[in-house]
Amino acid sequence: MKAVDLTRPVTVWKEDDVVDGRREKALVAIFRTSGCRWSRNGGCSMCGYNVESLQGIGKDEICAQLQAILERYEGEGMVKLYTSGSFLDPDEIPREARDRILGAFDGAKKVLFESRPEFVTPETLRELPDHSEVALGLESASDTVLRCSVHKGFGVKDYVRAADAVRDRGLPVRTYLLLKPMYMKERAAIEDTRTSVRFAAPRSESVSVNPLNVQRGTVVEGLWKRGDYRPPWIWSLFEVLKLRSELSGVRLFSSPSGAGTRRGVHNCPSCDRRLLDALEAFNFEQDVSLLAGHSCHCHDEWTSLIRAEDAMRTSVDVHRHLEDELSL
Ligand code: SF4
Ligand SMILES: [Zn+2]
Repeated sequence: MKAVDLTRPVTVWKEDDVVDGRREKALVAIFRTSGCRWSRNGGCSMCGYNVESLQGIGKDEICAQLQAILERYEGEGMVKLYTSGSFLDPDEIPREARDRILGAFDGAKKVLFESRPEFVTPETLRELPDHSEVALGLESASDTVLRCSVHKGFGVKDYVRAADAVRDRGLPVRTYLLLKPMYMKERAAIEDTRTSVRFAAPRSESVSVNPLNVQRGTVVEGLWKRGDYRPPWIWSLFEVLKLRSELSGVRLFSSPSGAGTRRGVHNCPSCDRRLLDALEAFNFEQDVSLLAGHSCHCHDEWTSLIRAEDAMRTSVDVHRHLEDELSL
């Protein structure tokens, strides 16, 4: 196995984001850490991030990774720091390293990082600089979905406590929601995420909808390989995002990983690219008309699949099972 350099981050890249309603250049970095504590208790059903995490990474390695990240930093207004876990977990990012990291980006307008709610404590919040933005992975506003489909290891009330505490500290919250965790039919997934957007919006400055991307070594990958799971359709994602017209004061967007591939959110090869371009435009313009008026032969396939799943009471990948039957 190739030796991993613990002094280098997993990856660094640049993209655009939004700060105070304006499009802004963003530096994105993923620190290599000892990983998410929850993943050592089984972790979430869709999460393969612990693959990038290793034991034995302490303050010195994290600070060396920071130096490597700073070499790529060109004064972008936004900085997004991920850890394949929780940035606020002192086991992952020791307190001294956290202070050094946040201090290094003092000039940025926003520094976004993600944490599970249990690490969002009053003491930690007091120590954060004012340009911090805290991302919380709620995934779903249903405790049943969190327990049975996501295996999240916390409940909705834990998210509410953390989000309220962040907002009381005067910092913005970004909420991540998961579209179509395992065992959910397409229609139920759309409805669950729409309900979750309505729930999270009043507590968030921005809500990011993440359609499930099948990651290696996960429970979901096992289902997907057997044909018992299909990632959501882009049509379904659009149904969720159209809710933006009912909301005010919150940015609703989606930057899906693996989009247009079999492992990620996809429709068909004829329309994937066109719809993903419309999604990119919507993310910044927040104009729901960009999500409407698209047509493709696969739209009928999507509506008939939703009906078939309801009639058959199944969340398996019906098309794949039918194809397998026909090829026998
Ligand atoms: S999704 Fe987040 S909380 Fe769940 S196992 Fe992965 S890193 Fe941990
Ligand atoms: Zn299509």
